[in-house]
Amino acid sequence: MSLLELRGITKSFDGQAVLRGVDLDIPSGALAAVLGPSGCGKTTLLRVVAGFERAGGGTVTLGGRQIVGPGTHVPPEKRRITVVPQEGALFPHLSVAENVAFGLRRRDPARRGRVGELLELVGLEGYERRMPAELSGGQQQRVALARALAPDPQVVLLDEPFSALDAGLRASVRADVRAALHATGATGVLVTHDQEEALSTADLVAVMRDGVVVQAGTPQKVYRVPQDLDVARFVGEAVVIPATVRDGVVWTALGSLPIIDVAADGVGTAVLRPEQVIIVDERDGLPARVLDTVFYGHDANVLLEVRCPGDVLLPVMCRTQGDLPQTEMVGVRIVGPVSWFPRPAGAGAH
Ligand code: ATP
Repeated sequence: MSLLELRGITKSFDGQAVLRGVDLDIPSGALAAVLGPSGCGKTTLLRVVAGFERAGGGTVTLGGRQIVGPGTHVPPEKRRITVVPQEGALFPHLSVAENVAFGLRRRDPARRGRVGELLELVGLEGYERRMPAELSGGQQQRVALARALAPDPQVVLLDEPFSALDAGLRASVRADVRAALHATGATGVLVTHDQEEALSTADLVAVMRDGVVVQAGTPQKVYRVPQDLDVARFVGEAVVIPATVRDGVVWTALGSLPIIDVAADGVGTAVLRPEQVIIVDERDGLPARVLDTVFYGHDANVLLEVRCPGDVLLPVMCRTQGDLPQTEMVGVRIVGPVSWFPRPAGAGAH
């Protein structure tokens, strides 16, 4: 069952609609990522859930209890929801232990033990007496998470918590935050515009666009079976090619390809991922010219110009983990099924 249920959430600022009816279900104990481009309304949604903003309409239910609804606005401190803000925002004049203990009752005899437990959970045992200025950015974020977990919330909201960290550190702090949330059983909602972060960290990804959630599902589902062309492009690199469906098969300049979902005959667009493009010997695939390569270490992108039947030249991005092509001319094969989006009725050619 869902712990957090959002139905038809709307919010406007100065007559400008920012949230236009957000629906979202987040299961208990899951870490959900709300992924969307800058300005789509992610932070506003988080603030409505936290109680810092009043929704214009719609309902939020937490564990079966309505916290937002017509005539209902439970104050933030009564929601059992805490927030990890963008840059930790620790109290600079308080020690690590005092920051973590901030949300705990002063007279609670278990207070000290709880702080120690939480610091251990985020990998900072022994840091109790340090001041925030004596911590790295990653350590500050861990303390901010420990502080958010201290009052035993049902939900922790994380607003782009890793954006100020450098790339190497970001991956390890992300993994630790995920582990700490799972260890406590708290449900997490992470706001990000970074698709890699959302796909690699979350159990559930909700893609937002223009104030609505356009698709929510597992990272694999959102990446492999995107709802529409915009989601396909937003969640990863996409090779987009004109296509026709006939008898359940997509016909493209690259040949006939299997489709992920059953589809009716029609004209539209096929989308595949660069890792589905395999470089083979020139004689074993469609002939292609290597236009550019970008080496990332763990893999590389190779931009190819494929010569398709009928002398159609098609630019295709390939992601390879093997050796980079040693010759200008190579062969290309496509593996795995592709997504398919029919052209909307009345639309012109792509
Ligand atoms: P980012 O990733 O850049 O933080 P976002 O998806 O989180 O973007 P929001 O911060 O929710 O987007 O903002 C959505 C829109 O609402 C923006 O156009 C923003 O200017 C506007 N907005 C947000 N808060 C207010 C406010 N208090 N008053 C007026 N407009 C606001």
